[in-house]
Amino acid sequence: MKRVLMIGTGGTIASEMTEAGLTPNLNSQDLLSYVPALGSLCQVDCLQICSIDSTNMTPAHWLLMARTIRERYEAYDGFVICHGTDTMAYSAAALSYLIQNSPKPVVLTGSQKPIHADITDSKANLLDSFTVACDGRISGVSVVFGGEVILGTRARKTYSKSYGAFSSINYPVLGVVQDGRLVPYLRPEPSGPLRFYDRLNERVSLLKLIPGVSPAQLSFLLSESDAVIIESYGVGGVPAGADGEFYRRIQAAEAQGKLVVFTTQVQNEGSDLSVYGVGHCLKQDLGVLESYDMTTEAVVAKLMWLLAMSQDPGEVGRLFYTPVAGDILCGPR
Ligand code: ASP
Repeated sequence: MKRVLMIGTGGTIASEMTEAGLTPNLNSQDLLSYVPALGSLCQVDCLQICSIDSTNMTPAHWLLMARTIRERYEAYDGFVICHGTDTMAYSAAALSYLIQNSPKPVVLTGSQKPIHADITDSKANLLDSFTVACDGRISGVSVVFGGEVILGTRARKTYSKSYGAFSSINYPVLGVVQDGRLVPYLRPEPSGPLRFYDRLNERVSLLKLIPGVSPAQLSFLLSESDAVIIESYGVGGVPAGADGEFYRRIQAAEAQGKLVVFTTQVQNEGSDLSVYGVGHCLKQDLGVLESYDMTTEAVVAKLMWLLAMSQDPGEVGRLFYTPVAGDILCGPR
């Protein structure tokens, strides 16, 4: 029988209703008792590393998850992490950089409704996740939710209430779980030996542009960060292009060795700063980085991972466009 480690972190799946709203009181052993069918699928060990709403997740928790798996990697065939849905996509992206080329599945799952509710997606999500973890044909970090298997660097929460809460962005789903069987469509191949990382640089921030946004907001974030991600509109740009205050402040920040990276508020198809004048100047004159088809969640996690290894903007820029765990397909020409 396969051995799977179930790592509890909290989230709705483990929550009970209290006067203060849903609170993650159940541990992974409690969750397991709601799904006895798991016992015939594999041998499960339970470990609780925290009990939090995933709103409270930090990069320190991502490092804890990676270290927990690293220390027990040889003893198990797969890993299932029960996690709140709100920041699961960030954790999945972070683990994709912290645990690279894993030949074993590392599955994140959770639910929109608590496990004790009469009508809940939690039991199906748990069964599906253990099915993927035991099957082994889809290796590496993934999110299993609503019957779909999504690559860890491509997951995003796109529905706040529906059971099919997650979408795979700019990438096909890896497979589906139907009637307890995994149907793999794609099987990510490790591109090298298994490697764990144990450091992140948290000095990364994100500015979402809105019409009328003040450049002072960018300056504040730049003063607090080693890298600022600007989530701009469409394929990308800044107000007033090369004649504007954003351009000048980005130029000044780059002279101080700060990184500025563009992503887009549009969910599908990614950025291409070279298209419009308001973006072309940033690319051509300032050499800013852009996400292309990477998700904002993956950009956040990738920058934290890269900036923990190097502060050299040239080196970080080169590594930023080097694909990891299928995070970027459509990079610079
Ligand atoms: N607020 C919860 C969390 O992310 C939502 C969920 O788990 O669905 O922990």
